[in-house]
Amino acid sequence: MVNNMNQYQDHPLEACAERIAEIMQAAPTTQFYQKWTCAKCGERVTMSIPNKLFTRGFHEDCGFTTDIRKSGCNYMLHFSRHMEDQ
Ligand SMILES: [Zn+2]
Repeated sequence: MVNNMNQYQDHPLEACAERIAEIMQAAPTTQFYQKWTCAKCGERVTMSIPNKLFTRGFHEDCGFTTDIRKSGCNYMLHFSRHMEDQ
């Protein structure tokens, strides 16, 4: 296999932060999880902590920390249809 194309879409961290800020304003109960691609092994990693954006992403499986400011990131959204008291 000579397919090293990055199959995931990542965007600059600032662009994600701006978009998420808009979403959170429109739907404050939404949860988001930051996702990025490990710069060492190429695996897609999802942050375990919701509603936070990080500038560095540690990949437990290979022990590498990716500089998300350089590589960009994406996010997964969990929309909540009911009110939740935390
Ligand atoms: Zn990795």
